[in-house]
Amino acid sequence: MKIKVGLVKCNTYNNEELDKAIDEAIGLSGGIDVKGKKLLLKPNILQDSDPSKAISTHPEFVRSVILYMQKEGASEIYVGDSPGFQKPGYNGKKSGIRQVTEETGAKWIDFTTGKTTIRTETGKLQKEFKVTSIVDEVDMIISLPKMKTHQLMYFTGAVKNLFGLLPGLSKSPYHVTYPNRHNFGEMILDLLEAVKPAYSIMDAVIGMEGPGPGNGYPKPVKLILASQNAVALDIIASSVIGYDPMTIPTNKLALRRHLGLKHISDILVEGEALSDVKIDDYKLLGEKKFQNIIFDLFHFRIFEKYQQKRKPKPYFIEEKCIKCGECIKICASNANWFEQGPNGKFVAVDYNKCIRCYCCHEICPVDAIEIR
Ligand code: SF4
Ligand code: SF4
Repeated sequence: MKIKVGLVKCNTYNNEELDKAIDEAIGLSGGIDVKGKKLLLKPNILQDSDPSKAISTHPEFVRSVILYMQKEGASEIYVGDSPGFQKPGYNGKKSGIRQVTEETGAKWIDFTTGKTTIRTETGKLQKEFKVTSIVDEVDMIISLPKMKTHQLMYFTGAVKNLFGLLPGLSKSPYHVTYPNRHNFGEMILDLLEAVKPAYSIMDAVIGMEGPGPGNGYPKPVKLILASQNAVALDIIASSVIGYDPMTIPTNKLALRRHLGLKHISDILVEGEALSDVKIDDYKLLGEKKFQNIIFDLFHFRIFEKYQQKRKPKPYFIEEKCIKCGECIKICASNANWFEQGPNGKFVAVDYNKCIRCYCCHEICPVDAIEIR
């Protein structure tokens, strides 16, 4: 049987238009039965930042999804996420998601209040993860990703969004254990198997292009995508913005594992024709196809040092840096530190220790780190 992905146009974050488009996308994808169920809605709140930056899932998109789920009879709805470095006082208000959660009668959940262990017998690299304990209390987890480019994984969508279920800095050691994108992708797929999200709905009304996921540029895509299969959704979403979807590690590795689908041809796009909505000037990240094949051959540990050296490096721009220290706190490799220079302190980095996880780039609040 084909796996459906609903693909629907939506020009703005106007509530009437959003409500209609979300309803239609879910219907086209085969629907979701939430009657009497407790749900966890997991938007992407990489940084609790202004919605105009397109870093987080848009709050009005979250509002429309909550209203849809309430209309369909969900008994309780929780909303939350945990940024990589969760500052004291993080409350989801800058992104506007906390406000729409409370205004609609859903419940905001802080992922750091308790942890639980989830398991997968079929995990390749990880058989268990410690995630937010709300996962134990709900019947369904629904991923609400933002369409974005990603320095490490090239693209972030419904699958990568699940990494936020790991509270705060507990994510960082995974970058050290799985420093290349092949292994990191395999680990993310282990998490997907353990979480088993029931459904995914993507905010692609305005995506992020260029140096995502935290420092790229807003780009109108004017679409909403929905599917019961997170991998199928990501394959279609990455195709829309011009990627060969098989150059995205999580897509490629998921098909190898047969995670609900074995081949792209197993996907049926309902609604807009993919060819009509493809964008040809989206600023993408990643490597050309032949480089990807070489990378595939060279992902083994013995070649990791070579791989590490040829990857782009984080450069810390002294003039822009506000010395907040967040890049230092999040670096699980202890590869950067403050040093005293003639003009005051600056961030120094040891590129031999740096594993190119780009967490520092994601977290920097003032775009003072460039990946070159
Ligand atoms: S310096 Fe940045 S890219 Fe390098 S390991 Fe630390 S957080 Fe990752
Ligand atoms: S996160 Fe950015 S602003 Fe803060 S210390 Fe690091 S480079 Fe400077």
